[in-house]
Amino acid sequence: MKEVKAPKRPLIYYYCIVLLIILLFNMIVTPMLSQSQVTEVDYGTFMDMIEEQDIGIVQVEDTQIIFTDKAETTVYKTSPMEDPTLTQRLHESGAVFDRVIEEPVSPLWTLFLTLVLPILIFVGLGQYMSKKLMEQAGGGKGSMAFGMGKSNAKVYVQSTKGIRFSDVAGEDEAKESLWEIVDYLHNPEKYTQAGAAMPKGILLVGPPGTGKTMLAKAVAGEANVPFFSISGSEFVEMFVGMGASKVRDLFRQAKEKAPCIVFIDEIDAIGQKRSSGSVSGGNDEREQTLNQLLTEMDGFEENTGVIILAATNRPEALDPALTRPGRFDRRVPVELPDLAGREAILKVHAKKIKAAEDVDFHTIARMAAGASGAELANMINEAALRAVRSGRTVVNQSDLEESIEVVIAGYQKKNAVLSDQEKKVVSYHEIGHALVAALQDHSAPVQKITIIPRTSGALGYTMQVDAGDKYLLTKEEIENKIATYTGGRAAEEVAFGQITTGASNDIEQATKLARAMIARYGMSQDFDMVAMETVQNQYLGGDASLACSPQTQKEIDQKVVELVKTQHAKARKLLEDNREKLDELAAFLYEKETITGEEFMRILTGGEQK
Ligand code: ADP
Ligand code: ZN
Repeated sequence: MKEVKAPKRPLIYYYCIVLLIILLFNMIVTPMLSQSQVTEVDYGTFMDMIEEQDIGIVQVEDTQIIFTDKAETTVYKTSPMEDPTLTQRLHESGAVFDRVIEEPVSPLWTLFLTLVLPILIFVGLGQYMSKKLMEQAGGGKGSMAFGMGKSNAKVYVQSTKGIRFSDVAGEDEAKESLWEIVDYLHNPEKYTQAGAAMPKGILLVGPPGTGKTMLAKAVAGEANVPFFSISGSEFVEMFVGMGASKVRDLFRQAKEKAPCIVFIDEIDAIGQKRSSGSVSGGNDEREQTLNQLLTEMDGFEENTGVIILAATNRPEALDPALTRPGRFDRRVPVELPDLAGREAILKVHAKKIKAAEDVDFHTIARMAAGASGAELANMINEAALRAVRSGRTVVNQSDLEESIEVVIAGYQKKNAVLSDQEKKVVSYHEIGHALVAALQDHSAPVQKITIIPRTSGALGYTMQVDAGDKYLLTKEEIENKIATYTGGRAAEEVAFGQITTGASNDIEQATKLARAMIARYGMSQDFDMVAMETVQNQYLGGDASLACSPQTQKEIDQKVVELVKTQHAKARKLLEDNREKLDELAAFLYEKETITGEEFMRILTGGEQK
């Protein structure tokens, strides 16, 4: 996508040039101007003029002698010579010593040249430049000096090269709702004849990196109309009032170019609930900007052809005024891709690289559960980089699998040296997770176990991959998951009788699950189906806030502890009962450092290895 931007040089740049010109002017031209009216003569002529008594005023200096003729019409100058009687003879010729020779350039003229003219040039140029900048920014008169307060909305020139819906993989529901907009922009009469009005604003909501920006661009691309794009945070600028003026400007430009798409990314930056009394000073400014946006949206008629798309991942934080009918009254969810969607996204991005014939995108998509479109695009790129690093031009399956781990767990740490004992502990820990998972029903199969440290700080990890997407979890499945998280530490206890710090992430995850079970999913008998907490940012990790009395909170905490304890004990029991397998698998992992799920299962079920 090509982006055409007005070439803007900072104004200071032009001022510097003008300043330089003026300096040069003062240093070279002005002296030349004044000197050009002084006639330089040789010493002989000077002597002759003394003889003829034709000297008017004279000034004898160290390096030059300046004099006039008797009528004082011309100024002469000559170089001095060793001449002791000069003064005497000059005096006799009637020359005048006590008057200063007037500059041939009049003082008024000098004043004009050195002071007035530069200022005129300065101001003139400044005005010219600012006008020019405003024109370039697409504006006319009105706005503040120097083009400040002009919106930075970038105009994307649409051509057949523009992004199409076909570039956005998955997201079929979103595309369907947006297709109507494209159809309307192609054929507005069809809608106006039926008396149907297009929504003025459409809100794309979903987690980051799911292709909201891409979809908005695709709408413009499909409809072949200009695409204005600005981020909500760009409105909130350093100067108060600037945001509102930017909004005004954006809409003026958009109306000129209608039909067109205006895309406001991160609209929550300006559209936050006004009541939420933030203490920050920028609040007023944000409110002004929001009010201006609301005014503009109300201001233009339906069916003008200006369609406003906005994206946010915090829809619950938006001011209700924004989502009222007549404003952003349509909401299009753009969710994280499902298995099929992930595979499609991988394939779209894989077109940019050279992938080996046998690459299995279905498996990759399965491994990358929960990844957003942006993360998947990143994974493909990481895989290509990995291929280049190992001197290949074709990307193979292992590149892709490794790149998933890179995106999920960070790079392999090349020079982290674990002591022998540490390596042993980590082996037991990871096998503990895998074994507990495998010994329970309804656990996702183990895909890979590794004890190669990652830059993210993980010393090893066990990757479990569900066969398909899971939308519903039973109580038992969650309990098993908790048990699996505790399995790492349980293995350390069983094998070494002591525990390490290696389980901090496990503890966090297990606690989260246990708490959700009780407070959110209503899976404890005592609380039944009463919601104890509500999810806050469902698209940004889903922080929960408690909504219950302190006493209930205490009970929840107790229940969480109980739950995790029970599962921990269960995991330890499982491992104790399978101590031989634990030892065997841990030794195998210790030696190999990375083992696949198949190797793991072979040892677990058969044990014919070695
Ligand atoms: P958002 O605006 O939702 O944060 P973007 O539209 O900026 O996400 O997406 C970032 C990048 O992720 C895109 O440039 C694209 O490469 C990739 N991407 C995200 N979703 C998809 C998708 N559904 N199909 C193809 N690529 C996608
Ligand atoms: Zn662990």
